[in-house]
Amino acid sequence: MSEPVILDGKSLAKESRIALKREIDALKQKNASANPVLATILVGDDPASATYVKMKQTSCKKVGMESLKVEMPKETTTEELLAKIRELNADPSVRGILLQHPVPKQIDERVCFDAIALEKDVDGVTCLGFGMMAMGENVYGSATPQGIMTLIDHYGIDLKGKDVVVVGRSPILGKPLAMMMLNKHATVTICHSRTTNLAEKIRQADVVVGAVGIPRFIKAEWIKDGAVIIDAGYHPAENCGDVDLENAAAKSSAYTPVPGGVGPMTIATLIAQTVDSAKKYFR
Ligand code: NAP
Repeated sequence: MSEPVILDGKSLAKESRIALKREIDALKQKNASANPVLATILVGDDPASATYVKMKQTSCKKVGMESLKVEMPKETTTEELLAKIRELNADPSVRGILLQHPVPKQIDERVCFDAIALEKDVDGVTCLGFGMMAMGENVYGSATPQGIMTLIDHYGIDLKGKDVVVVGRSPILGKPLAMMMLNKHATVTICHSRTTNLAEKIRQADVVVGAVGIPRFIKAEWIKDGAVIIDAGYHPAENCGDVDLENAAAKSSAYTPVPGGVGPMTIATLIAQTVDSAKKYFR
């Protein structure tokens, strides 16, 4: 069997940043008042969330775009967060709004996500955006699955007629990814914590997606020879994803490494969608 192709998200994200920087420079040259901003909202003091937000802000800076850091205390109510989102919706310089998930549990996260204006929903979290994406409309997709689709497309992997198994059905990852792949004419099976005979389902798959949140959950012996492996998981303590890649990668025809596969594509997608939103506004 030939060597598997490494789906190198890190390199592709870097290429994307260079192209986006050029686009932002051109936009500012064309329109001196164009100063697009990505607003990031962090509620509470979860250190992992703070790190993710910081990474997103750093990426913004690298492409020459400003970020507006909104930090709210962990006691914030739904109403207070909604008021902040409405304020950002009304601010013309803000072209993208990112509400870092998860928010403290007294907040109705769904209501707050859905308050984000569709044209500023660059992280693809609203129900309206999800519905439109599922119907094949041109709308910003949830950043991680959209990043996975960009990576797959970049490497010329054709999903038409392929049997795909997505393990995980979260609203930000498994569920939208399944819809995106269905729209590319794959036959998609979505698995979750109540799925029976998971190993058998994965054995049939031409493409396997790990979006479970459990380190090395998907075993190498479940994977068909020559399958494509997309590992969306990342567990920094173990430095691994949701698939046992150490043993499974060699059986695959292509795989996303962990780290350096899906992760960098998530931020790259968020930034690309913010730049697109800015370009549409500051014509
Ligand atoms: P999540 O919201 O916790 O969802 C996990 C999903 O896995 C759920 O649908 C759950 O099923 C399913 N699941 C749990 N145990 C299972 C089992 N034993 N068998 C089959 N399915 C099972 O997680 P998430 O936010 O989607 O994230 C998933 C992974 O992706 C995590 O490792 C996370 O770190 C990673 N992630 C990475 C990025 C990135 O930028 N790279 C972004 C987002 C997430 P139920 O629905 O039945 O509970």
